[in-house]
Amino acid sequence: MKSDIEIAQEAKLIRIDDLAHSAGLSDDEFEPYGRDKAKVALHKDRKPHGKLILVTATSGMPAGSGKTTTSIALTQGLKRLGEKAVVALREPSLGPCFGMKGGAAGGGYSQVLPMESINLHFTGDFHAITAANNLLAAMIDNARHQGQVNLKTVIWRRVLDVNDRMLRNIVTGLGGPANGIPTETGFDITVASELMAVLCLATDLDDLRARIDRLVVGIKRDGSAFTCKELGATGALMALLLEAMKPNLVQTLEGNLAFVHGGPFANIAHGCNSVVATKAAMTLGDWAITEAGFGSDLGAEKFINIKCRAAGLTPSAVVLVTSTKALKWHGLVPLPDIGKPNVEALKKGLCNLDAHIDNLKHFGPEIVVSLNHFATDTDEEIEIIRQRCAEKGVRFAVCDGFIKGGEGAIELARAVMEAAAGEPKPLNFSYETDDDVVTKIEKLATNVYGAKDIELSAAAKKDLKQIQELGFDRLPVCVAKTPYSLSHEPTWLGAPKGFTLPVQRLILNAGAGFVVATTGAIMRMPGLPKQPAALHIDVVNGKIVGLS
Ligand code: ADP
Ligand code: MG
Repeated sequence: MKSDIEIAQEAKLIRIDDLAHSAGLSDDEFEPYGRDKAKVALHKDRKPHGKLILVTATSGMPAGSGKTTTSIALTQGLKRLGEKAVVALREPSLGPCFGMKGGAAGGGYSQVLPMESINLHFTGDFHAITAANNLLAAMIDNARHQGQVNLKTVIWRRVLDVNDRMLRNIVTGLGGPANGIPTETGFDITVASELMAVLCLATDLDDLRARIDRLVVGIKRDGSAFTCKELGATGALMALLLEAMKPNLVQTLEGNLAFVHGGPFANIAHGCNSVVATKAAMTLGDWAITEAGFGSDLGAEKFINIKCRAAGLTPSAVVLVTSTKALKWHGLVPLPDIGKPNVEALKKGLCNLDAHIDNLKHFGPEIVVSLNHFATDTDEEIEIIRQRCAEKGVRFAVCDGFIKGGEGAIELARAVMEAAAGEPKPLNFSYETDDDVVTKIEKLATNVYGAKDIELSAAAKKDLKQIQELGFDRLPVCVAKTPYSLSHEPTWLGAPKGFTLPVQRLILNAGAGFVVATTGAIMRMPGLPKQPAALHIDVVNGKIVGLS
């Protein structure tokens, strides 16, 4: 079979003007960025009406589960059934593109296009967020240097959308007083930044401004918060983010509208594309398909407890992507062997599927388990999963969108239409809004992850005290956690139970409107692996090759 990039480069794209016009957009509602991308600003009187479908997955494994591929396949499958379906995805980060995982524009015959552009610079949103973030850092340090503010702690860190472990912990301002105040700090990857979360959760420009105003960037000597508003930087950040705030319109391989906008990581941030893009997809489509990063414990949990709660969204159904490979991995088969038939290991790994189904049942929406079909799957293995879904009382469909595009997702599309036929069921949130931060983490740990309790490190207790003093201890929590296990420990596969969840740090994100709780060894700035994907990417005859 051809590689993802070969399939993408051979596709004949619809001109973005034609695509936008065919969807009923007037000329003042979109601004083309070249021939095949556009920034969209829908008329204010248009209202979201489409049914929202969330795509999540069983616990991760190093090869990726196929959520993006399935989201796009489902959207294409619905189109084949004559439905108006629009997909809303995250923008890929350069970190994984050049690191280990590769791009995030789908795979095989279920991709969004133009694939190379979406995976690389696209419409420049991430560069804008990086610039805005770093302008704020420079303005804070300048105000300190100029003697305009005396901070006990600078909270705001710099960001870069490249995996670079050398920047995790650094000292800035070396070289004497003329070159600034020496400060121990570091870089995070752009997709882990609070500003990324702010852009993704902001409902409009006024809300974006309010959130940027609220950013707590440092602590003053008297213990009070130093905010972006007090620094006076909000206007400049707004100017840098004005274009980035508009959702990007592109297309799927089969000509559906696709919004690709915003891209917080799900292990270290909230993992959902922007609220404005999700609402735009619900406005232009009768079906809006969106992916939340990783499993019910990360992507779906944050989608429901953070994004849906803040934006007033209710999904009509949830698609739980799984694969024989993922379940065998959770049945303790080593990575090189997960493509080989192994019924015993598959059965052993079903406990992971069960745990995610149970979590999603608790959240409320109708569930469709979608088996991401791999060429190595055997009928016997597929039947075992189908059987387990029947026992659990949830719908099941095989999706072969990778090889067959929309045609391969018709069974899934039918199952989703059936599941989402009625009014959406009310969401069951994991915690009350007025629970304190620690109670919120306890509820997530015990009800979603399978832990027996939580334990705060000494540093986390200090963080908590400060967050309480600043008056933010009732914010929602965004847990930073490994996607490879329901627990905090990536090697605990299957469905671990009865462990203590260690909470290392509590990081206030007042602008995003949550407290990040880090658990286990979580990196906010990843490093490159031994053999980074970057070694295989090149330009040949004016075309990008090797991007996967
Ligand atoms: P996720 O969104 O869960 O991280 P992706 O949809 O991005 O996963 O898929 C991860 C990788 O696996 C991509 O490179 C994709 O091309 C590949 N892939 C996904 N589904 C299949 C499949 N059914 N067969 C072969 N490769 C697949
Ligand atoms: Mg994905």
